[in-house]
Amino acid sequence: MRALTWQGRRDVRVEDVPDPRVTEPTDAVIRVTSTAICGSDLHLYEVLGMFLRPGDILGHEPMGVVEEVGAEVANLRPGDRVVVPFTISCGHCWMCDRALYAQCETTQVRDTGKGAALFGYTSLYGAVPGGQAEYLRVPQAQFGPVKLPPGPPDERFLYLSDILPTAWQAVAYADVPDGGTLAVLGLGPVGQMCVRLARHVGAGGIRATTPREVRVIGVDRVRARMDLAARHGADVLDVDDPGDIAARLFGLTDGRGPDAVIDAVGMEAHGAPLGKAAQAAVGLLPDSLARPLAQRYGLDRMAALHTAIRAVRRGGTVSLSGVYGGEVDPMPMMDLFDKGVQLRMGQAHVRRWTDQILPLLTDADVLGVETFATHRLPLADAPHGYEIFQKKLEDCVKVVLTP
Ligand code: NAD
Ligand code: ZN
Ligand code: ZN
Repeated sequence: MRALTWQGRRDVRVEDVPDPRVTEPTDAVIRVTSTAICGSDLHLYEVLGMFLRPGDILGHEPMGVVEEVGAEVANLRPGDRVVVPFTISCGHCWMCDRALYAQCETTQVRDTGKGAALFGYTSLYGAVPGGQAEYLRVPQAQFGPVKLPPGPPDERFLYLSDILPTAWQAVAYADVPDGGTLAVLGLGPVGQMCVRLARHVGAGGIRATTPREVRVIGVDRVRARMDLAARHGADVLDVDDPGDIAARLFGLTDGRGPDAVIDAVGMEAHGAPLGKAAQAAVGLLPDSLARPLAQRYGLDRMAALHTAIRAVRRGGTVSLSGVYGGEVDPMPMMDLFDKGVQLRMGQAHVRRWTDQILPLLTDADVLGVETFATHRLPLADAPHGYEIFQKKLEDCVKVVLTP
């Protein structure tokens, strides 16, 4: 089959690889019909090369049609249409019993210090081949894949694989009070879905409030992404406009700051990184000295997180969906403690949220997901898709590949 493989930094190629097969009784193999590129793929593309081997198959946002199932997969049959969660969970271990599916003890690889295995995330998370391919082996298929009704096109359901449940979890963790204000840092695919869910569904349920009760302020620097969020009811700020972004958020919230801030950015790698020793040295400096130094030398891979902590109101919540991988990044513990900030984060427990999201997708397209992708490309053009998504060319917000 053809699959998108990692070859080196910013070097991905579509190649011939062996077809996947059912190897465990809990496996299924699906023929992939749609598969998206994610901001998390960009971490592998840009900075996490040390964890990859040339030839690793990327991708964790797939859906398709079941081709074959193992003996213990009683819930699926060949021909079923499914979307596949990016976190691989067994559904019955100690963690899964508590709906902590991203911490599944059956699929996590012991001694790596990591949670559940993920598709297409290399040796970091279980070395499971990814879904930017014509076919995909799905471990723990007796639990993971979500069966879909016939009718609506793939893109109505595709984002159940990752960005919708990720955004749902981020908004649920943010726990904005009715009538409160939520700031969303980063208006990539995840941030866009946070805006839509908070505006169209309401904050807590997410707590079944009526629309318009949550004020959402979206922050980015890419005009097309800010405009899109504005069309879905967010006020928007450009992070690069003059003035400290936290101060500007205070200005919009009676001087207190938003009740919650979602960081949908994660680590940004730019500039020439210093060695670990230099990073550690910067980490020992007081924040007022460390921050300008870190920015000057491209070390501030946590710019959005630090903004979130500074901007959130006292007693508020910072909810992170953005992924951070630093070991020596300084954390502003003084601010966190003094302000009494709650921090909630983590890989999305995808299956915990999918049953709640599905009704928003089946009857009508309440969230506008069918028109969300800005680029639809054949799998063969995936390398171009990575480039425009990373560089935000052609007003790219989301790329969907069709094998
Ligand atoms: P993306 O890279 O397309 O979006 C990030 C956005 O942040 C971009 O639009 C960028 O312009 C903007 N940005 C960069 N620096 C900023 C700053 N300082 N302030 C405000 N905006 C800034 O990625 P995405 O697909 O939307 O994913 C966002 C993050 O969520 C990534 O870190 C990704 O790895 C993570 N993620 C986590 C989970 C999870 O389970 N927790 C799931 C999916 C994605
Ligand atoms: Zn993803
Ligand atoms: Zn489990």
